[in-house]
Amino acid sequence: MIEQTLSIIKPDAVERNLDNKIKSFFEKNNLKILKSKKVKISKEEASEFYKVHQTKPFYNDLCNYLSSGPIIVMVLEGENAVLNNRKLMGATDPKKAEEGTLRKMYGLSIDKNSVHGSDSVENGKKEIDFFFK
Ligand code: ADP
Ligand code: MG
Repeated sequence: MIEQTLSIIKPDAVERNLDNKIKSFFEKNNLKILKSKKVKISKEEASEFYKVHQTKPFYNDLCNYLSSGPIIVMVLEGENAVLNNRKLMGATDPKKAEEGTLRKMYGLSIDKNSVHGSDSVENGKKEIDFFFK
């Protein structure tokens, strides 16, 4: 199934100018970049975006982090885009991510893990609307 998913290049990766490398990695792996923009969001917007995590102990730090600097938000499209992107990203904790995944290659720590990807088609739609509607 052709799907769409939301990808975010997080502040740590934008800061290190990894955006072109990450974008070509997606394109080489069957994910077409339909839309892309660089934005800086407020803490309130980050809190809304990560609302599902509001009960987690790391929620406040997470929202501070996502709003700490420019991010690049993208709509990716391709066959099984949601799962494909999650595989390309690797595990949340870069230390546990498989070789060849983005988080293994570029992630600095569990919080500065370079990329975000939607976890389902349904959440992908919501996340795409959040940034592009
Ligand atoms: P993923 O980004 O792999 O979908 P989650 O949705 O579980 O992971 O978490 C969202 C983000 O919150 C992660 O990408 C990571 O930046 C941060 N995070 C998750 N777990 C922790 C943790 N135990 N400590 C600090 N930050 C965390
Ligand atoms: Mg998630």
